[in-house]
Amino acid sequence: MTKRELKRFRNLINKKKEELFAELGYLKSSSINATSKDLSGDLSSYSFHMADQGTDTMDREMAFTIASREGRYLHHLNEALERIDAGTYGKCRKCSSEIGKSRLEAVPHATQCIECKNAEEKKHRGM
Ligand SMILES: [Zn+2]
Repeated sequence: MTKRELKRFRNLINKKKEELFAELGYLKSSSINATSKDLSGDLSSYSFHMADQGTDTMDREMAFTIASREGRYLHHLNEALERIDAGTYGKCRKCSSEIGKSRLEAVPHATQCIECKNAEEKKHRGM
């Protein structure tokens, strides 16, 4: 995957995080200032800022959300951002082949290619 594509997926993931925060009603006042200026650009500095500047309030909010479905989703999105930084993004964690771009566009935090995902789901269904 090229740097340009990675950047596109990073923006996509950050946008998903924005949507999730908006859905949860978080950061209502503070996020407007923080995000509006670079909504069209790279939001990575914003998310780094958030991670570094975790206040007590933020920690409590995170502790609350981590137990929820949205919290797990946020966790997956953050992990995907870490994989972009680590240079492992877009690779299947099972077979190491490339996860299809169209799949990543639909599920940017996907960690497995569609074949491995299907195989795992079959296993779960006992097939
Ligand atoms: Zn795979």
